[in-house]
Amino acid sequence: MRACVLRSTGGFDQITIADVPGPAADRLGPREVLVGIRAAALNHLDLFVIRGVPGVSHEFPHILGADGAGVVAAVGAEVRRVQPGNRVMINPGISDYSCEYCRAGEHSLCVTYRLLGEHLPGTMAEYVVVPEQNVAPIPSLDPPLSWGEAAAFSLVTLTAWRMVVTRAQVRPGETVLIWGIGGGVSLTALGIAKLRGARVFVTSSSDAKLAHARELGADVTLNHRTQEVWKEVRALTNKRGVDVVVENVGEATWEDSLRALAKGGRLVTCGATTGPRVVTDVRRLFWNQYTIMGSTMGNAAEYEEIVRQLGAGKLRPVVDRVYPFDEARAAFERLEKAEQLGKVVVTVSE
Ligand SMILES: [Zn+2]
Repeated sequence: MRACVLRSTGGFDQITIADVPGPAADRLGPREVLVGIRAAALNHLDLFVIRGVPGVSHEFPHILGADGAGVVAAVGAEVRRVQPGNRVMINPGISDYSCEYCRAGEHSLCVTYRLLGEHLPGTMAEYVVVPEQNVAPIPSLDPPLSWGEAAAFSLVTLTAWRMVVTRAQVRPGETVLIWGIGGGVSLTALGIAKLRGARVFVTSSSDAKLAHARELGADVTLNHRTQEVWKEVRALTNKRGVDVVVENVGEATWEDSLRALAKGGRLVTCGATTGPRVVTDVRRLFWNQYTIMGSTMGNAAEYEEIVRQLGAGKLRPVVDRVYPFDEARAAFERLEKAEQLGKVVVTVSE
């Protein structure tokens, strides 16, 4: 099958479209599903994989891509959730569905939690095999979801939902600051925070992206290249600060995130795109009684909930641009340069 693979870690020069052995339909596990991929969406995770993630080793060529949508091609003997021909989206977080955390319903805390495209062969290929728990039928909407939108949905929506709803528990009337609105998780977090009735502040280094974010519901927009975000936040909230900060930037923003928080505020983080070693003034932490929380992907119940919300016409993904399969490298370059607003998608097969 055709696949977008990494020949070895190290950089974009190692990305290529290659013919690789595909999964065998007659060797599926009893609860596994073979999906014929139509479109795959890119995530920041892919850029880490391309550069090399410490502690994660791959068999090369390694198939990239966490997010994907397509048509069920074959199912294992015990699969009940879907059947061949169904159009599905894929939840890229693969659990063993049996450890202590899985039994408690917390699948993204699974002791063997793995992600498609990072620890497992990814979605940028004509076929991928996943457990049946990891596929969801694509809801019918008007207008219908494109393959690109369906592919763009799962990773960022699941991540942002757990951050905003499950972890930070944003309530109506609260104030929320979201850094870097061009990114998929941030843009999705904006939509979810608005659904929760919050007043949302967003940042970007691009005034064009900030203008677009206002159209998508942002209440306050701040240019973090030309403005000191935490000071602006304080000025705009009568010196109070915001109730919640949604972080995935890490080193570059961490201290300003804490400076922007109101007393008793919550900081929730799912990433560290500018580096993982942050500085926390512990006096500020205890005096203001802040809560710092980590968040990764989401569990099966959260995935069901976001698919239900999508079916109700909410949380429709924002697609930035769709690239043909042969131009996958250009798609990664767009993500690397942070030119996008929303999800960058690659069409895998027509
Ligand atoms: Zn588990």
